[in-house]
Amino acid sequence: MSLRETTAKAVAAIVGGDNVITSDETILALDPILISNYQKAFRYEPEFIPLCYVKIKSAEMASKVLAYCNENDIHVIIRTGASSSEGQLKVIDDRTVILDGAPMNKIVKIDPENMMATVQCGVPLAVLEAKVNELGLTTGHCPQSQPMAFMGGLVATRSIGQFSTYYGGIEDLVCGLEAVLPNGNVFRIRPVPRRAAGPDLRHLVIGAEGTIAFMTEVTVKLFAYYPDEMWKHGYIVRDFHEGLKVVREIMAKGYKPSVVRLYDKPDVDQNYGSVKLKDEEAFMFYSCEGPGEVAAVNGESIHRICMAHGAEDIGTKAVDHWFVHRNDLCDFIGTEKEHQYFRETGIAYATVEICADWEDIGKIYDDAMDYVPKKVQNLTMFGGHVSHSYVNGTNIYFVYNIRMTSPEASELDYWSVMDAICDVVLKYPSATIVHHHGVGKARVLRIKEELGSSYQLLRTLKDSFDPNGIMNPGCLLPLEK
Ligand SMILES: Cc1cc2nc3c(=O)[nH]c(=O)nc-3n(C[C@H](O)[C@H](O)[C@H](O)COP(=O)(O)OP(=O)(O)OC[C@H]3O[C@@H](n4cnc5c(N)ncnc54)[C@H](O)[C@@H]3O)c2cc1C
Repeated sequence: MSLRETTAKAVAAIVGGDNVITSDETILALDPILISNYQKAFRYEPEFIPLCYVKIKSAEMASKVLAYCNENDIHVIIRTGASSSEGQLKVIDDRTVILDGAPMNKIVKIDPENMMATVQCGVPLAVLEAKVNELGLTTGHCPQSQPMAFMGGLVATRSIGQFSTYYGGIEDLVCGLEAVLPNGNVFRIRPVPRRAAGPDLRHLVIGAEGTIAFMTEVTVKLFAYYPDEMWKHGYIVRDFHEGLKVVREIMAKGYKPSVVRLYDKPDVDQNYGSVKLKDEEAFMFYSCEGPGEVAAVNGESIHRICMAHGAEDIGTKAVDHWFVHRNDLCDFIGTEKEHQYFRETGIAYATVEICADWEDIGKIYDDAMDYVPKKVQNLTMFGGHVSHSYVNGTNIYFVYNIRMTSPEASELDYWSVMDAICDVVLKYPSATIVHHHGVGKARVLRIKEELGSSYQLLRTLKDSFDPNGIMNPGCLLPLEK
């Protein structure tokens, strides 16, 4: 029997034949990102197809399947919403099974008294958010991929939402979880408000991109929700650097906006038809949340700071537009319309998100705007925006359009931009090459430079929890062989 037949048969004996899919056609239809959308548009097929695709419906199932794979050197890629963007789900060999956590989709408990919700890994974020909104609550987690992403993937990629400057990233929201190690052992981290019992074990799972454990359940915080009391406003500022000064002052003085966004002209020209900027100008907008009086005080102070920096107040029209259309991209990605666009233009678009302290972020922006278009000559647009800010620094989301060399070379084309941005960012000690999409297989060749002497900690963790290297090989950590 082939490895494919043996594996499918053994796994079916554990989980039941109905939960194992072996047909290539069905697997390809089920999994949106075994291959990039660009290549899919040109009817390319992935180099490797998984041995089989397994629907996981309980922690017990996950435990037994992982233990089988661990004993038989079968590689495992876990997925939930399949919206990750850095090649996390790409199959890179001929001995991989996909474990789909999406069928674990129960909301276990919503606890308004203790302001927490416990859900299985396959609960779509949009479903949880709608459910808690009915109770006047919010998860506070609203990434652009909210219509596509599920709780497992959101935790595993260390994701962040558009309102993060008020609520925090997923690492601030996860209180406890349950997960399964490759040897089949199940562990639980109880949800408590805070714990000082050693290092924070939640972080073995948060951001591990499915390379250490299969998370089956998670408990997240909830917040009071005041959508009708939100303050929001837009401004045009002299240039991107002046905008950075405004954002720094707001954060350093301790104000608490929920959305902080600052766009350069190339990004505005592509994404905000109604905002017209002169050459150097930048567009920025802010929202403030919480009880109305808190939102108003934060908003008025932010307005004062913007005006003191000579910003032009352009009201709320462009901001309202963003609030309505902020996740529209999810309706376009992977559709025939997108594929047709790729075939007609040969141009693709993507983003790379980085982060640095206040001293370096402006220098990185200037360096990247100068270096990246010279290094990658088939760029047709290159710009960026700030979207997640902290007291000690902020991120930049570089955005680009690229004329693809060919469908075959498109992965290298995407990665050439990422690589050029990493060249710039890694020169700065206060910066990181990845703010929230995770490392995946796209940035993995730069992870040793990113982590420096702390890379040995990640390698040791990986090797001790996954000694046989079955969990998503080549993702987050480079293949050693
Ligand atoms: C249009 C678009 C917009 C986006 N916007 C944002 C954004 O605003 N903010 C942001 O942070 N990210 C954003 N992302 C990327 C982001 O990584 C994903 O949207 C999201 O975090 C992935 O969730 P998912 O359920 O789709 O995970 P998947 O793609 O299914 O998996 C992602 C990773 O998590 C692992 N994983 C999945 N489930 C589990 C589990 N149960 N246990 C252990 N590991 C698991 C997988 O192995 C994989 O490595 C965006 C992506 C797209 C396509």
